[in-house]
Amino acid sequence: MHYLDNSATTKPCDEAVHAMRKALETWGNPSSVYHIGKSANDALASYRRCVAKTLGVQKFSRDRIFFTSCGTESNNIAMTGCILSKKRAANADGIYGTIIISAGEHPSIDAPAARLENSGYKLVRVPTAHGVLDIGYLENALENAKKTDAPVIFAGFMLVNNETGAIYDVKSAAALVKRYFPDANVHCDAVQGYLKLPFTPYTLGVDTMTVSAHKIHAPRGAAALFVSENIIKRKNLVPVMPGGGQEEGYRSGTENLIGIAGFAAAAEIGYNRLSANMAKVQALRERLDDKLSGMTASGIKQNVTEGAQLSNIASIVLPGIRSETMLNYLSSREIYVSAGSACSARSKKKSAALTAFGVSDYDADSTLRVSISHTNDECDIDALCEALLDGTAALQKK
Ligand code: PLP
Repeated sequence: MHYLDNSATTKPCDEAVHAMRKALETWGNPSSVYHIGKSANDALASYRRCVAKTLGVQKFSRDRIFFTSCGTESNNIAMTGCILSKKRAANADGIYGTIIISAGEHPSIDAPAARLENSGYKLVRVPTAHGVLDIGYLENALENAKKTDAPVIFAGFMLVNNETGAIYDVKSAAALVKRYFPDANVHCDAVQGYLKLPFTPYTLGVDTMTVSAHKIHAPRGAAALFVSENIIKRKNLVPVMPGGGQEEGYRSGTENLIGIAGFAAAAEIGYNRLSANMAKVQALRERLDDKLSGMTASGIKQNVTEGAQLSNIASIVLPGIRSETMLNYLSSREIYVSAGSACSARSKKKSAALTAFGVSDYDADSTLRVSISHTNDECDIDALCEALLDGTAALQKK
């Protein structure tokens, strides 16, 4: 089997599996006050410290790491919790304020933003043509928000695009938003960048940040939301799902200690081995790029960014073969990749990320996403390239 769909999900590493088995013994409710509850709560605190460290949060910092069930939930809490924290006050045009996101965001940012647009907020999507966040466009939008008295309440920029691997300049975007609107919450969806490249919420200058366990060789069902102390102090985030008050009330619901144990173990190992893992993925990507550039006669090409691109994601365009057709062919050879992102694979909608990138509808219909992990090796790349060549020859004839 050649699994090259690591941006969809990853195989839990041995350390995560071991930690989860162990956590099954700590089955008490972390909120209970008696002994077994306290053990669970101690374990939870140690997992939190582990994940905090990978995000550069110092031991005595008052910035928070809240555990959630998935990246989607963290993103929704960050955006909706911010909007709910503000009094709705309309400007002369009846607009409650401005929300800014990058074009081609994951649906867990784009969809809640679109819903808020329908309920009276102005939504600005900053273009990301050729994989570059348009900072000039962002500045115009900020000027306009000032002029029209529709202040920016929330701005969300993903760090790495899940379909193209483009790395966006979140640091510049965040600084610019803060210059115009110091009170805006600036969020980063760092799901695809986490433990693939070095960064922290501090180096990017953001207030909230999402990371998800199942993209880093931990299980599904656990994720985290970083929230700066400043946001808590200014009451710029309110609970979206009121309930029992877990996670300081910001995410009620009994914590998934087993999933979180796996998350912390995978985060720790991924953090300690970041440089080695990055070097391995880079070498595999160079092998893939070399082989693909030798296949140009077949008509296979790549969507290449004009800015920075993470080496683990390759966006490959086939010559007039629908991605689904090639996907099935590769799958018959036990090679697993995806057509766009896993979450949109079953929908017939055009990929917003590829459209924002500037890929034509024709090419978007023939695009494959290959996502590499440090757990892959050269034979995975070789098997893929051989199958792509065979598949292109066989499928084009039909
Ligand atoms: N953000 C990005 C960029 C993603 O790629 C994904 C998942 O693919 C998510 C958010 C959602 O994460 P989760 O699957 O944990 O809900």
